[in-house]
Amino acid sequence: MKTVLICLLSFFTTPLFAQGIRPDPERIAKHVNKLASDKMKGRGTGSRENKKASEYVARAFKKYSLAPRGTTGYYQPFTAKIRRVVVPDSIRETRNVIGFLDNQAPYTIIIGAHFDHLGMGMQGSSKAEKPEGQIHNGADDNASGVAGLLELARYFSENGVKESCNFLFIAFGAEELGLVGSRYFVNNPTIPLNQVNFMSNMDMIGRYDPARGVGIGGFGTASEWPAVFEGVKGDAKFFTDKAGSGGSDHGSFYTKNIPVLFFHTGGHDDYHKPTDDPAKVDSKAEAAILNIEIAIIENAMKLPRLTFSEVK
Ligand SMILES: [Zn+2]
Repeated sequence: MKTVLICLLSFFTTPLFAQGIRPDPERIAKHVNKLASDKMKGRGTGSRENKKASEYVARAFKKYSLAPRGTTGYYQPFTAKIRRVVVPDSIRETRNVIGFLDNQAPYTIIIGAHFDHLGMGMQGSSKAEKPEGQIHNGADDNASGVAGLLELARYFSENGVKESCNFLFIAFGAEELGLVGSRYFVNNPTIPLNQVNFMSNMDMIGRYDPARGVGIGGFGTASEWPAVFEGVKGDAKFFTDKAGSGGSDHGSFYTKNIPVLFFHTGGHDDYHKPTDDPAKVDSKAEAAILNIEIAIIENAMKLPRLTFSEVK
């Protein structure tokens, strides 16, 4: 009887487990709360807390059994210069965090999100009146995107499917100083760029507004995107935008003739201010957005490698 019961239990828990790999609002909130807590002091480039954020990502990559694909384990160190304000220590050390899911496939999909933010308001581009000394938590910008990156890494590594593409997951450093980490990566790639299928970027996906929907940029960067998007729907509303450059790290890939996507829930009053706080992130809507992103990626993998097209 006991054996039968255990068998029945495992039979009924299997589908639950399969559901458990889907993007989860609680996990998203946990990542955002951690990365954008006051303790992390805004993850300013070159700070101890910036380094701690990169370690948090690397630990998750390891947990999901991703292979290190930086130059020093998961890390790809580089330096970034602060240009918008004058500071004595303008050259800062930071790094990208890179993990690889090897499906022994010919092409690789890159999924990215930047992990840095404005720190204590002393590296420029804050919209606060007196930014110096204030913690710029950067919950939407871009702890939300990093949470998305980690949830997609968990999904694709634990779904039990050997996909027709490999995945390279990258948390970029120094985006706020001018896309420095992503530019460094495309100029010093750790996989051959001619084996990249497309790049999908998440920057600010935590402030879903049901009236607006989530914007998905890059729609004009591959001739196949319209076919890939066909029939995609979910619990969040979305609209597309053709542009492949501007705003965030996907732009670095677009300049190398790689098709891109850019997920973004739009600007708000807390943008680049100390009030961009974790409690304001809608993690339930973010999970819905990530399911849409998964549907698009899975549709794209049914096709041969996408064809880059320039947006005029
Ligand atoms: Zn950002």
